[in-house]
Amino acid sequence: MAAKKEKKIRLTKYTDYIVEKTTELLNIDSPTGYTEEAAAWVKAQFESLGFEATLTNKGGVLVNLTGKKKNDGLLLEAHVDTLGGMVATIKENGRLQLTNLGGMNPNNAETENVRVVTKFDGIYEGTFQLNNASIHVNGDYNDTKRKWDTCEVVLDEDVKSRKDAEKLGISVGDIVCFEPNVRVTKTGYIKSRFLDDKLSVGILLGFARYIAEQKITPKRALYAHITVFEEVGHGGCANVPEGCTEAISVDMGCVGDGLTCTERQVSICAKDSGGPYSYPVVKGLVAAAKKCGADYAVDIYPHYGSDVEATLGAGSDVKHGLIGAGVYASHGYERSHRDGAENVLRLLIGYAL
Ligand SMILES: [Zn+2]
Repeated sequence: MAAKKEKKIRLTKYTDYIVEKTTELLNIDSPTGYTEEAAAWVKAQFESLGFEATLTNKGGVLVNLTGKKKNDGLLLEAHVDTLGGMVATIKENGRLQLTNLGGMNPNNAETENVRVVTKFDGIYEGTFQLNNASIHVNGDYNDTKRKWDTCEVVLDEDVKSRKDAEKLGISVGDIVCFEPNVRVTKTGYIKSRFLDDKLSVGILLGFARYIAEQKITPKRALYAHITVFEEVGHGGCANVPEGCTEAISVDMGCVGDGLTCTERQVSICAKDSGGPYSYPVVKGLVAAAKKCGADYAVDIYPHYGSDVEATLGAGSDVKHGLIGAGVYASHGYERSHRDGAENVLRLLIGYAL
């Protein structure tokens, strides 16, 4: 029997809040391995909405969104860590060769401004460039493959040698943060690096605010885990609260050739590189989307792994699912839309409350 459609609730105020909070969070650098400031911000935001939030030993944030029962709990997972770089070598000319943090790709990082975070001597600005980047000088400019060893950070400091860079306090292992370039258009598009997965953290904040303001006690025990090592595969491995029987990753939905989702929809993932998601969860999400009027698409992601698969891999006995706002140009200069965020929020309300 087809699910009966409910009257659509108005969520504009919460969507505005999601866009505002996502923008704030996007402007806090948090490449994987360097997430303390972002996690502290996330913790404070949930606390300001009246929820209990704790920092895990790994540095993630576990939030109790309350709920009636202790058993049959639902855990929502989103990640605040992003792609980035790390200083691998200080070259003789004082330029910095990087190694990737997560799946950062030199092809779409070229010409981006960066911040080099030293351990004890503050932050320096620079730009990630092709080696010998002047096209009037470099005859191989167009034919050079962009790789970590053919690109470098040019510091905006008077640096001519390795010694000069070292004198600034720069050393191997320093964190390199790429400028996110956040832009929200009049038409509702949100463009930025690292919408994966800060948009979802913003959505979970909007969801928490909805629960608080509407004075809702969720039917089930409900938790959110904002993880900090998703981009390297083990974000969701630990910290599943006792009594949870289900975990859902709220992460970016894929948009591209062969897939049906757009940036204005909530994507429900049926299968990714880690195999199929729990059939009852996928079916339940689709039924909830139909009922609450969330504009959705079901897709298969060809090259994708999620936090909740890490949760399963670590041995948790839970059903699992994955939803998220459609995000185009993932791991590059990403684009989504406020409608996509609102549809995720609508589905969360329809499914989890
Ligand atoms: Zn992600």
